[in-house]
Amino acid sequence: MDRSSYKDFDATELFCPNCKRAVPVRKRLLLVLPNGDKYDYTCRFCGTSVGDKMDTRQDNFRIVVK
Ligand SMILES: [Zn+2]
Repeated sequence: MDRSSYKDFDATELFCPNCKRAVPVRKRLLLVLPNGDKYDYTCRFCGTSVGDKMDTRQDNFRIVVK
């Protein structure tokens, strides 16, 4: 599963409040909405949700990190 398809997302590490450091994250499709897809990022070590991203189908693209 480690293909070069990670190019669409720049943050491969996010801060995990549980591990108290930047950790590699796992991307998971959470919701498919009419205007885009919502992805959830979880810590690879403890599974805590460390952020999410709304991937809209239009040009405006935004990243929301908790
Ligand atoms: Zn963690």
